[in-house]
Amino acid sequence: MDELGIGLIGTGFMGRAHALAFRSVSAVFELPVRLQLAALADADIQRAQHCAAAWGFTQAHAEWQQLIANPQVDLVAITTPNHLHFPMAMAALAAGKAVYCEKPLAVSVEQARQMHHAAQAAGVVTRVGYNYQHNPLIVLARELIGNGELGQLVSFQGEFSEDFMADPDAPWSWRCDPAHAGGALADLGSHLLAMARFLMGPVQAVCADTQTVHQQRPIHNGSPQRRGIAVDDQAHALLRFANGARGTVSSSWIKHGYKNHLSFEISGTLGTLAFDQERLNEVRLYRVGQKGFQRLLAGPELPGYAAFSPAPGHQLGYNELKTLEVQELVMALCGQGHAGTDFQEAWEVERLAAAIRLAAQEQRWVEL
Ligand code: NAD
Repeated sequence: MDELGIGLIGTGFMGRAHALAFRSVSAVFELPVRLQLAALADADIQRAQHCAAAWGFTQAHAEWQQLIANPQVDLVAITTPNHLHFPMAMAALAAGKAVYCEKPLAVSVEQARQMHHAAQAAGVVTRVGYNYQHNPLIVLARELIGNGELGQLVSFQGEFSEDFMADPDAPWSWRCDPAHAGGALADLGSHLLAMARFLMGPVQAVCADTQTVHQQRPIHNGSPQRRGIAVDDQAHALLRFANGARGTVSSSWIKHGYKNHLSFEISGTLGTLAFDQERLNEVRLYRVGQKGFQRLLAGPELPGYAAFSPAPGHQLGYNELKTLEVQELVMALCGQGHAGTDFQEAWEVERLAAAIRLAAQEQRWVEL
């Protein structure tokens, strides 16, 4: 394969992040293949045309089906609201194309299961946008855990909070609709659950509580008309990991002051490791015998960091994590990578999220 044709669906927050990553990845890494930005689709054709021209895509489509049928497209990147992931990914897989889908994978476990099986049957590369795992420091954290630096794992305390829905007058959006996999647990918590599995391994049982704090929101920004909300504003869960460790996870989109607080503390019999995405270039590490926590700062000794900068302390950002994710995806497509979250793993994340919802609904422990 000399050339890889990229088809991108969606031009919102994530559409732009994907476009940035696809544009910069070849400048940052030596790739075994040339990327061709073949087509961009959006339901708003004027926006699709404008963004295609601005972002360097050759063609613009109003219908996503046209993009999937486009023979120039080898990889379909899906950055639309959650309920559209299933029909788009299933159509792309049926066409034999590789799929890079935003998280969460689907709006139900059943959809996620079908997507995982369709991907297996198609035999193509799939990836899901759990970009935070591509932080070189998170890769290092996983290595430290794997090398036994923390000893036997005892606990994972994780939280993903933001405050973009904290204002009760923040309007309804697709993120507020259960049929669109709305709620803080789907939107933010899915990242945290993926991270917990990435660092700690599988979860065996959960017990949980979820709450809708603001039960009605304006139908549009500034509208006096309000609409009922049936998704969680916050979720809290207790976890039992298969390795014997215990844990907690919390997700909220109404916690004032927090903007991207994907954070965790992992402790073992020999130490503790702590991370907060709002300070994504550092982890704090404590090992038995130290007087206090040691701050590890990202630098060029980490390959994923060195690709962007030869100088320590110059810092990576969110979009660099997306570029690292795309690099791993492209290498996988060239038969040289296996480090990303595929549809099978994303289905496991959905199983875990569904178990948390069920535990909260029935107020009991749920085994996975
Ligand atoms: P958004 O509302 O900003 O953008 C959605 C885009 O999809 C818009 O351009 C819209 O026009 C387009 N769209 C809607 N229906 C369409 C259709 N039928 N055909 C073609 N295009 C259509 O949303 P967003 O914030 O970019 O979120 C999109 C996805 O990305 C969601 O699944 C979300 O969970 C995920 N997301 C991931 C991260 C991350 O860190 N990985 C961050 C934010 C959002």
